Amino acid sequence: MIEAYRVQHSHHKLPTKGGIRYAETVNEDEVKALAALMSYKCAVLNVPFGGGKGGVRINTSKYDSRTLERITRRYTMELIKKNFIGPAQDVPAPDYGTGPREMAWIYSTYQEFHPGSINAAACVTGKPLTQSGIIGRNEATGLGLMYGLREVCCFREDMQALGLSPGLEGKRVVVQGLGNVGYHSAKFLQEQGAIIIGIAEYEGGLFDENGLDVDAVYHHRRATKSILNFGRARNIKNSRELLEWDCDILVPAALEGQITEENAPRIKARIVGEGANGPVTAEAEEILTRRNIMVVPDMYLNAGGVTVSYFEWLKNLARVSFGRMDRRYNEMNNRRLVEAIEKASGVSLSAEMKKEIVKGAGERDLVYSGLEDGMVTAYHNIRETKLQKKTPNLRTAAFVVALDRIAANYIELGLFP
Ligand code: GLU
Repeated sequence: MIEAYRVQHSHHKLPTKGGIRYAETVNEDEVKALAALMSYKCAVLNVPFGGGKGGVRINTSKYDSRTLERITRRYTMELIKKNFIGPAQDVPAPDYGTGPREMAWIYSTYQEFHPGSINAAACVTGKPLTQSGIIGRNEATGLGLMYGLREVCCFREDMQALGLSPGLEGKRVVVQGLGNVGYHSAKFLQEQGAIIIGIAEYEGGLFDENGLDVDAVYHHRRATKSILNFGRARNIKNSRELLEWDCDILVPAALEGQITEENAPRIKARIVGEGANGPVTAEAEEILTRRNIMVVPDMYLNAGGVTVSYFEWLKNLARVSFGRMDRRYNEMNNRRLVEAIEKASGVSLSAEMKKEIVKGAGERDLVYSGLEDGMVTAYHNIRETKLQKKTPNLRTAAFVVALDRIAANYIELGLFP
């Protein structure tokens, strides 16, 4: 017997949306809490979904791929029987312990049982690119996290209050977790000039004050099955110590409950960016707030995943590819655009720039820019609410933004039946 769950938290918008987690620690309360978080996350980013979440209580390392496939298909069967999956009902996605492979199994099982469905691909997001997935979904959460922290660090007065200079450039960052979220967060932050001085995993951690090459560490861990013994970096046997390291930004991007009232008094980071769901407990947050450490909350900072899931769902429902749809038509129009820009500005564009404009936006450009716009706008909404309502921290402000938007639905639609 394998225990598994799916929870739908709020139906103010349908479908409900949220990942499926495979972990030994999965339990009903956790899935319920994570489903609620999905409702708020979607509301904060203005993604029109209700919140949902799933969980299967297994240790994935104890099963081979054949067995994981059987478990995934069986779980999907149960969801189908109970009407807990479908493009208009409830749309799962990857979470801790799952990825595109599992999503393809879910899609395939759903499709088998809905042979006439024209929309079957929209029953799940985070699918492989070759199975109606979307470019950018894989890295979406980490990319969104970078856009979010970049925006946070833009505000000179906020950074001054924390004793930091504005901008991501030169910020010393510690990341916990080198899974999908941790790896991509670290990689995109590094690309923006941040210095990744520490990476923690459950088998241990690495520290190098000159900065770790994220890609090299990632490949080293895959090849040697351990993060330890990487070049000149210092091994940290007890990786939890890295959470308390001296740094500017700490990104917990693994599981919940990592910063508690026990270690919160010793955290040295000035900003804690929640890549994971619920890594800072409520008691810990009070301590951090009192110590003037800024916590950028999960319901905003890791919402990039579900935002790009929304783009994937739209793409599947429309059954199109995004970007450069009619190449010849677009190119003709874009050439006119170049002429118009040059005429209006009186400046002649470089050949390279002209080529870029004529080529038009591809799927990656559209996904990245849509995600960037969503993350920037949402941060401004949260920050303004914090200032207006004088909330003690960003999380309370994000809750106000989310609950106001969800409440509007209940007020306008009423409760029926
Ligand atoms: N599991 C991710 C989250 O916690 C993504 C959910 C989705 O894409 O629906 O936000």
